[in-house]
Amino acid sequence: MQAISTEELSSFKEQCLRELEKASNLEMLEAVRVGLLGRKGAVTQRLHALGDLAPEQRRQAGAVLNAIKAELQEAIALRRAALEAQALQEKMREAALDVTLPGRGGGVGMLHPVRTTLWRISDYFVSRGFVMAEGPEVEDDFHNFAALNMPADHPARAMHDTFYLENGFVLRTHTSPVQIRYLESHGSPARIIAAGRVFRRDSDLTHTPMFHQVEGLVVDQQANMADLFGELEAFLRHFFEDVNLDVRFRPSYFPFTEPSAEVDVRCVACGGKGCRICKQSGWLEVLGCGMVHPNVLSHVGLCADRHQGYAFGLGVERLAMLVYAVSDLRAFYENDLLFLASFR
Ligand SMILES: [Zn+2]
Repeated sequence: MQAISTEELSSFKEQCLRELEKASNLEMLEAVRVGLLGRKGAVTQRLHALGDLAPEQRRQAGAVLNAIKAELQEAIALRRAALEAQALQEKMREAALDVTLPGRGGGVGMLHPVRTTLWRISDYFVSRGFVMAEGPEVEDDFHNFAALNMPADHPARAMHDTFYLENGFVLRTHTSPVQIRYLESHGSPARIIAAGRVFRRDSDLTHTPMFHQVEGLVVDQQANMADLFGELEAFLRHFFEDVNLDVRFRPSYFPFTEPSAEVDVRCVACGGKGCRICKQSGWLEVLGCGMVHPNVLSHVGLCADRHQGYAFGLGVERLAMLVYAVSDLRAFYENDLLFLASFR
């Protein structure tokens, strides 16, 4: 093999140092190190090749190559230290916490206005000695309709816009089936409130497919219309926070009560002068009620000669709209946090 010239070794060293400089991170530096000083690296191979030279040349070139190797090792160590320091700085900059930035603020939750209204109503009746009763939201035909004096061909069924499920089940269209279930299991006397979700295929300014009802039922041997009217008048005056609130009862029709009445209050927005909310009538319809129909009592095994009862029902959203002056019922269910927070 030919002798290695000093110039050639010198340019080889320069080339190695240039490669080192190009390494801009620790991974690249390691790759360069392996390429030069590794088992098959350029410097290592040159050292191996020394064996082919004549003894004198081998000594000279060997000294130069070993000096280059030492110089490269030192340069790599320096570069590594510099890159490690740089990497540490970057890591610290990324993890830095700027204590002058404003905090993120954990919002405090609140009850939905419909829930608040529902609890206000049921709390009032519980304070009047009513017991909370519950029932399933998926009901059978008997409890949702037939037992409430709405046999299969009854026209009132059409008004309920029912969601029908498989096997004859329905999403309950009112909370009245809870009354049936309670009377079936507890009999008379009963004094209950049923509150919860009900479902109808309906959606516009004043209807949503799911809404909340609160119903009351009193069954014993003396329950009568005068008690019913007194109970509801006291409730409405409490609810609207007006001890002089005018309340009127109008004859009406429901399949499950006889006689039946609808209950109006003097418009809480205009005081009775007539406005958009009361459709210029001066009155707002807020409740339905009546004496429990004898057929309903006999469906749950109570003798209509010995027991009587009254019942009433109201839409929670309807009352929430009136109390909070909300004109579109659907706004309650659009999950607009700004809107909901305005009831805080
Ligand atoms: Zn009005």
